[in-house]
Amino acid sequence: MRIVLLGSPGAGKGTQCKRLARQYGLAHLSSGDILRQERAQGTELGRKAQKFMDSGALVSDDLIIAMMKKAIDQAPKAGYVLDGFPRTSNQAIELNKVLTAADVPIDAVINLTVDDAIITDRMSGRRTCPACGAVYHIRNLKPKKDGVCDHDGTVLVQRPDDDLEVVKKRLATYQEQTTPLIGYYQRQGILHEIDANGGADVVDQVIRQVLDGLLVGRRSVARAQR
Ligand code: ADP
Ligand code: AMP
Repeated sequence: MRIVLLGSPGAGKGTQCKRLARQYGLAHLSSGDILRQERAQGTELGRKAQKFMDSGALVSDDLIIAMMKKAIDQAPKAGYVLDGFPRTSNQAIELNKVLTAADVPIDAVINLTVDDAIITDRMSGRRTCPACGAVYHIRNLKPKKDGVCDHDGTVLVQRPDDDLEVVKKRLATYQEQTTPLIGYYQRQGILHEIDANGGADVVDQVIRQVLDGLLVGRRSVARAQR
């Protein structure tokens, strides 16, 4: 299964992608996480991405497309869930070209819709583990022990781009450059809009209903073709 999660920064894409990856045995391919790893390793790509990420702008399409093609090539046969990519029309068109040529199209695009006030609260309360990338929230999805990662005991940090001024820029960038993808995937007939204002378990359940429905449909088509 090949899935794209769309939604504003802070909508909960990473949180849901991690769950979907576990539940369906998919790779979680997060462009933001890959860029943060590149930065931590001090690679050329990481250095080039730095100023764009810190200011809330997007990294250039050619760098991102090359980076994500590589990640997709290395994904297991079971498939993947894309988180934060594509984020511009050019990225979506390029992804479509590559997947169409290989006859492995995207099965579903899930758009998480969340009210603005909730988005701001989610981003200001987000804390992440710099070692394993786990994501928490200071009130909504707390670690077992305050300020410390459940998995490896590392002290949690606030992402520098969750600073209020950068958040404003990221939300404007999203409105301008990413929202056109909603129409793009709607026209392809693979868009599923999901109200993601509720708790993470509720959102998870609704997404799974959509994906399980697709899997059931696919199995009955396969049976009919036998
Ligand atoms: P994105 O990947 O879309 O930027 P994240 O998954 O990192 O968003 O979530 C942003 C913040 O909101 C994190 O602190 C996360 O723990 C929290 N969060 C995610 N989903 C929910 C939810 N359904 N309800 C409440 N908080 C959530
Ligand atoms: P995220 O972790 O998805 O919030 O992404 C963090 C930052 O990484 C963004 O604000 C961008 O600067 C950069 N980034 C992540 N994904 C992309 C993408 N698909 N295209 C361009 N820039 C990206």
